[in-house]
Amino acid sequence: MNRRTLYRSFIVILLSMVITTGISAKKDVDYVKKALEDTTFTWRSAEAKGVRIYYQLDSFAEKHRAMLFRSVTTAVDEALECLGESGYERTLHVFYLESRKEMDRIVGRTYSGFANWTASGVFVVFNPEWRSFEKHEITHVLTMELWGTPDATSNWMIEGIAVYCDGWCREYSVDEIAFHYLSRGQLPPLRELFDNFATLGEIRAGFYAASLIGFIRHTYGAEALRSLWHNSNGALTELLGVDVDKLETSWKNYLKSNVKKGTTVDLETIKDKGCG
Ligand SMILES: [Zn+2]
Repeated sequence: MNRRTLYRSFIVILLSMVITTGISAKKDVDYVKKALEDTTFTWRSAEAKGVRIYYQLDSFAEKHRAMLFRSVTTAVDEALECLGESGYERTLHVFYLESRKEMDRIVGRTYSGFANWTASGVFVVFNPEWRSFEKHEITHVLTMELWGTPDATSNWMIEGIAVYCDGWCREYSVDEIAFHYLSRGQLPPLRELFDNFATLGEIRAGFYAASLIGFIRHTYGAEALRSLWHNSNGALTELLGVDVDKLETSWKNYLKSNVKKGTTVDLETIKDKGCG
C-alpha cells in the first residue's frame, strides 16, 4: 500500500470519529502552531516533565490547572506503561479547550478530543459537563511517535489501543462494554473487525478492538502488540501461535470470565452523550 492510499485509509477513520475523537493523518498541518498563532485565544501555559499544558485566561481549565497537570503527567506515565515503553523524546503539547466550538476553530471539526501526532499535539475539551480524554489522545501521539505508522492490516489497532489504554467510558470498563455487545450477539467475527473496522460503528468497533488488545497484552505482553502494530495479518499466527478463530474463542472465554455477571451497560447514554 503506498503512502497516499495509507493516508486515505486514515482519513476514513478520522471521519468516522465524530462522536468522540479524531487523529490527524496530515503530516503538513501543525495545529499546535495554528492554535498558538490564533489571537482569539488567550493562552497561558506551564511545562514540566516533558509536557506543556495550555489553558486560557479565566477558563475552567485555568482554575483546575494544578489538577490537570497532575492528570496529564499521570496519563503519560500510564500510557507509556500500557504500551510497554519507558519514555519519549519530544515535548507533548496538551491544549485544554472550553468547547467543541473552539475545537472546530482549531482543527476544523467538533471533536471532543484530537491528536495531531506529527506536532506532538493533543487537544481536549474540558468543561463542567465534560471530562477530558487526555490519556486517549496522548496514547495516539505516543504510539505514532514510538512505534511509527502502523501497517495497513493493523489500522483497527489505532483506536483500539487508545480506547484500551484510557480504560473507561462513563462508569464502564472496556471489557464491560465489549461483553455487552457479545452477550447480545452483536459482535461480528474477528476477521470482520480486522478487515472492516470503519464500517462496524465507532463505539462497537472501538470497544471490540480495545478489549481484544487488552486480552493480547494480558496474555502475550506489550511487545506482542508492537509487533502486531507492524503487521497484524502476518504476525498473528507466527507471534501468538494461534489462528484468528482460536484467538477469537480464547478472547471470548477471557471476556466471559472477566466481567461480573449481571453487569448492565447503558449504551443509549453512551451513544447520545459519549464517554465523558
Ligand atoms: Zn481516538
